[in-house]
This record gives sequence, structure tokens and C-alpha cells, in this order.
Amino acid sequence: MAVNSAQLNPADIRPLSPGTSWQSPIWTVVFVSGLILAGSLFGHATRSAGLLAAIWPTTPMLLGAMVRWPHLASPVGWATIVLGLPLDNMIHVALPADALLQAFADLVGIITGYVMFGRLEPVDRSLRHPMSVLYLVAIVVTASATAGLVGIVASPLFFGRIPISSWSVWMATELVNYIAILPVVLTIPTFSWRRLIDRRRRDHRLWFDPSELTPALVFVASCMGGLLVGGPGAVAFPVPALLWCAVTYSQFTAALLTLLFCAWTLAAISLSHFLLLLDNVSQHTMMSIRLGIALIAIAPITVASAISARNQLLASLRHMATHDPLTDLLNRRAFGVAARKRIYAATQFDQPIAFLMLDIDHFKSINDTYGHGAGDEVLSRLAASMRSGLRDDDVLGRLGGEEFAVFLSNCTPENATIIAERVRAVFATTIVELTDGRHVTATVSIGLAVAEVAPASVEPLMLAADKALYAAKSAGRNRVVRAAPDQACGSAASPAR
Ligand code: GH3
Ligand code: MG
Ligand code: MG
Repeated sequence: MAVNSAQLNPADIRPLSPGTSWQSPIWTVVFVSGLILAGSLFGHATRSAGLLAAIWPTTPMLLGAMVRWPHLASPVGWATIVLGLPLDNMIHVALPADALLQAFADLVGIITGYVMFGRLEPVDRSLRHPMSVLYLVAIVVTASATAGLVGIVASPLFFGRIPISSWSVWMATELVNYIAILPVVLTIPTFSWRRLIDRRRRDHRLWFDPSELTPALVFVASCMGGLLVGGPGAVAFPVPALLWCAVTYSQFTAALLTLLFCAWTLAAISLSHFLLLLDNVSQHTMMSIRLGIALIAIAPITVASAISARNQLLASLRHMATHDPLTDLLNRRAFGVAARKRIYAATQFDQPIAFLMLDIDHFKSINDTYGHGAGDEVLSRLAASMRSGLRDDDVLGRLGGEEFAVFLSNCTPENATIIAERVRAVFATTIVELTDGRHVTATVSIGLAVAEVAPASVEPLMLAADKALYAAKSAGRNRVVRAAPDQACGSAASPAR
């Protein structure tokens, strides 16, 4: 639906500034204790009767949350963990001494991981570099080894016995938990509808394309196939589909599916164990299976990281190729491509369109008076403020020098005139404060061409708008001139005011 430009208020399109109340101590306590509770509920849900939980996510969730949202790593946040972990353990561990020991070991693991993550660059903390996974593995191996070591060393010291007989089983269990859960928490995206809509629009994709589900469906089918066929080889059945998901979906979705793989495989193995389908499963076998699953899980996470790094590189190269470095507006070529796409869409839906050609008045004298550097500053500031006079959907580009162009989709001649006038007014009223404190003002002349029915190509409109701009300059500058209705054929221009 077309936006009525006359009702547009620039304040409406500004993003809301994020509130800080979510970072208050009370919310930190609620969030951290909620994580502890949710972690143990999830762990219990994946536990087959009488056996180890498939995934026990509390420790990796807490570590991931402290790294992902640094405001949680406050004294209040740490105090909640120190008190919450043993309390939670006491609910599901029979002996209070064991609960305390377990909580102490978990805490040491979390602190170890947190200190090591603190030494990484932000890009590595969010796994956006192929090397990040290597760091992640080093951190989680150290954290789980330390937690296990603390457990077996502290146990005889404080309680005179060893509750968990094998350090390697403890470590392998912690390791698979960390590797399955941490990437999910570290890559949780900050969701924004606006960003999602923009991306869909840019990629010209439908809201939902059922074919996008194919890799996920193949993954589910592989898991089922593994269950049907059974045997040790079944562990590897979902791996090809998981790698396909890693190259197709976002890093977060890939991490989530990897977590599902780990939980599913460990649950299936625990169940087989419980049903005595696997004979004489020794502690060593369980440790080996858990380590194997952790190592398999590293593969899709590494692929997803590499793909994410590649996608970001491509995105920044694409941005550099299509945007002007000074103003960050679309460059001439990209503007032409975007305008052609819009004009094609307008012809499909019989929509009116408009084209604005802008040229800053007497810009040479600004350069001469204030210097070329100041001229650059004025250009970039005016380009930024120009956006406030336009609708979200309007395409704005820098054609070169101090010349700009705007393509208005689905815009009546009346609305186009209002928008053009508003942009002119934005220029005339913007006072640019230079870095050296001096103030500069500038005006702009605008040529406007409108078409009730979109023409087959953008060139006649550009030509008409260019002629109207020339007329605006000749008529004294700082004004909008609208080309005559049959402008698409390059007829004479008529003043709009
Ligand atoms: P008018 O358009 O009103 O006729 O006068 P004008 O002074 O703006 O004339 P013209 O369009 O011919 O001059 C444009 C000037 O813009 C010339 C050039 O020095 C300056 N210019 C072009 N690109 C840049 C740039 O990237 N940075 C700066 N600082 N100046 C630029
Ligand atoms: Mg010029
Ligand atoms: Mg000029």
C-alpha cells in the first residue's frame, strides 16, 4: 500500500532507542535464575529413566549468556550464579555435598571459559570467523577439563570420596554440552522486523519459500533413517544433511540444528542403552560416543562460520561496489539498476512514478570559501539529512559531484511535488556545523518528472527531470520545477511554485 507522503513524519521512521531497564540488577537476577531453571528443566526432559541427561545445558547457557550479553557479567549476575547453581543442583542431586561439588566445578568451568572468551576479539566471540571455532574448541576443552579436574581433586579433599569416578567421562560430558549449546547462544541474532523486511526486499524473495525447508526436512529424515537402521553407523546418518543446512541457513539456525543433532543422537543412544539394545555399554564407550558426537558437531559449526565470514565479505564488497564512499548513497550504476527494477514493478501494477534530479546550488563557492574538505563534509551531511524528507521505499543515489537523484515508486504527481518540496526545505533549513565549528548552509534546485503510467524505461524520465532541473537553475535556484505531464517525451518544463 502506498504511504501518504503528506502524513509522513521523519520521527516515525527513526528506530526506537533501546531501553536500558532490561539491564537493571533485578532483570539480571530474573534472567540468570531463569536460565538456571530452564537449563535444568531441559536437561531433565532429555534424560531417559535412570540415565544421564542427553544434554545438560545450564553451564554452557550461563557461559554463553555472560559472553553474549556482557551486562549480565556484573557482580549481581555472578552472585546469582554462585547461589543459584547449588540451589538448583540440590533439587535434582540426592546428596547436598554432591550438589555443592557439582556447582563448584560448573562455576570453575564457567569462570575459566569467561576469562578465555574475554581475550578474544568480538568477531571471534560471535563465531564470525573460520578461526573462531578453533578458539571455541580450545576454550571449551579447557573449561570442561578444568571443571572435571576441580571435581575429582576437590571431591576427596572436601568429602573424602570421589563421586564421579572418571575425569574423562566428566570432561566428555561437559564438552559435548558446551559444543552443542554455546554456538547457539553466541550466534543468537538481534531480531528486527525492519531488517528482515529489508533483506527480503533486497533479495526479492517471497515471505516464505517452501523450498527453503528442504535441507531441514532432509536432516529430519536422516535422523529418522538412523533410528530405523540403527547400529553405531547411524550416528553419522544426519551429517551430510547437517552440512547442507550449514551452507544454506544462517549461522544461528545451523547451530540450532546441530544442537538438535547432539540432543537427538545422545537421547537415542541413551534410549538404546536403556532398552539394552547396546550390550555392556561401558563408561569408556559412553565417553567415546560423547566425544565422537562433540567432534561431529564441530564440522557444521565450522562450515557455518566459514560461510558466514564469506557472506559478510561478499556483503561488504557488494556494498563497496554499489555505494558512494563519501555519502554512502547508491552510486550512479547501482541507482540505475534499482530504478530499472522499480520501473519494471511499476509497469506490472500500473503505478504512477516520479523522478527527482537534484543539484546543490553554488557548490563551487562553498568549496572556494571553506575548502574542499569542508565541501566533502557538507555533501555527506546534506546527503544524510535528505533521507529524512523521503519515504522508506524511495531510492536515493548520488549521480556524481553534488548531483543526486531520487526515484519515487507508486507516487502520484501531487505527492511527488510534496516530497520534492520537503527535500528542498530540508536543504534550505539544514545548518551544517563543520568540525572546525564554522556553520555552512546550502540550497538545492530540483527537477521533477512524473508519469501517471510508468514508461518502459527510466531514461525519458531522467531526461525530463534533467531539463526541469536546468529550468529551476535558470529561474533562480532553490526551487522545484516540475516537467510538463508529457515530460517522458522531453517536453517543456513548468514551474511547480
Ligand atoms: P550551480 O549548480 O548552482 O550552477 O553551481 P555550482 O557551483 O554547484 O556549479 P557546478 O555544478 O558546475 O559545480 C559543482 C562543483 O562541485 C564543482 C566541484 O568542485 C564540486 N564537487 C564535485 N564533487 C565534489 C566532491 O566530491 N567534493 C567536493 N568538496 N566538491 C565537489
Ligand atoms: Mg553540478
Ligand atoms: Mg551545483
